[in-house]
Amino acid sequence: MASISMSHIVKKYGDGFPAVNDVSIDVADGEFVILVGPSGCGKSTLLRMIVGLEDITSGDMLIGDRRVNELAPRERNLAMVFQNYALYPHLTVYENIAFPLRLAGAKDDEVDKKVRAAAETLELNEHLERKPSNLSGGQRQRVAMGRAIVRNADAFLFDEPLSNLDAKLRGQMRTEISRLQKRMGITTVYVTHDQIEAMTLGDRVAVLKRGVLQQLATPRELYDNPGNLFVAGFIGSPPMNFLPATVEGTTLKLPFGEVQIPQEKAAKVAGKGLLIAGIRPENFAEASAPHARDVSEANTFEASVDVVEWLGNETYAYIPFEAPPEVEAQLDQLAQETDSEALRTQLVVTLDGSSTVKDGDKIKIWLDGSKVHLFDPETTENLT
Ligand code: ATP
Repeated sequence: MASISMSHIVKKYGDGFPAVNDVSIDVADGEFVILVGPSGCGKSTLLRMIVGLEDITSGDMLIGDRRVNELAPRERNLAMVFQNYALYPHLTVYENIAFPLRLAGAKDDEVDKKVRAAAETLELNEHLERKPSNLSGGQRQRVAMGRAIVRNADAFLFDEPLSNLDAKLRGQMRTEISRLQKRMGITTVYVTHDQIEAMTLGDRVAVLKRGVLQQLATPRELYDNPGNLFVAGFIGSPPMNFLPATVEGTTLKLPFGEVQIPQEKAAKVAGKGLLIAGIRPENFAEASAPHARDVSEANTFEASVDVVEWLGNETYAYIPFEAPPEVEAQLDQLAQETDSEALRTQLVVTLDGSSTVKDGDKIKIWLDGSKVHLFDPETTENLT
């Protein structure tokens, strides 16, 4: 296995806007790093530059301590698993897995040993004589991984490998990839636009937007301390609420009421005018809920619930609010700049699954002021 080091990587197609713009990411030996972002953010281009399928406009790409910018894909000793698996339909599972070994001129007994060992790991032993067309999507996925395993590659690269699978199988395969990666300690770079895959699979996650790296951090760090509005809105479901806000002393003024925030947080935004408050739906609760009980009256407010969605284990309540008219134009512009639909005029609040709230009810809501993020509307950076 080997580390992968990307240093100031740029990719320009023609003379247009860079598809990848000065991205630096170090993937440690054995680490699992996810590249995530919306369509067109450059994640596939970055992966294709690692593997050698795309020229690098500028910057340095290292695998271990080898600079590979000018090396052909087959000289890089990496294994890529594609979305469509790229299996040979006329070959059996056995021969599909054996393919890279045969290509390298391996002897029959060595091929047999490696193919059977990989099939064992991937629980494919019973399917070795089948053709890909007779396999489920998940089994095909495993064959594609088997082919990568037998090569003893320095790293695995995955390009949206689960996007063709149904939700249940996707969940199973996610767990399987995670288990396999941990067991084998394989350096892995994995591209996805699915934030659940990003949060559950990665040791660290790189969030990209329009070719620019927004934040590279552990899933927990991304969730707890998003660096800017884009990352904050991208990670989390339902997404973080964004609201126009101002702070006076330790009082946070929101469109629907005032709440108290901790002194240290307030100090970081002292003297600022309009701010964007970012509040995750789960940082609200019904004031009567057990975990809101010991909280001061100051952080509760009345709300009219428009629509309720009950999911069994939790309930989403949608609460309309009106932004002050004097900041509307600024909010519109901000929503465009940040690719964010999140500066909406409704609040999403997660309540207990046991909540009896119905459409149209008036309820008392509590907000955990210590969990509020405050963003600069100019730079979009998280100030708190
Ligand atoms: P998706 O999730 O839709 O695959 P992505 O984040 O992987 O998107 P890329 O495929 O890396 O994005 O594309 C990044 C940008 O580069 C996009 O604007 C895309 O249109 C552009 N692009 C990609 N390949 C080419 C190409 N061969 N020629 C010109 N532009 C390209």
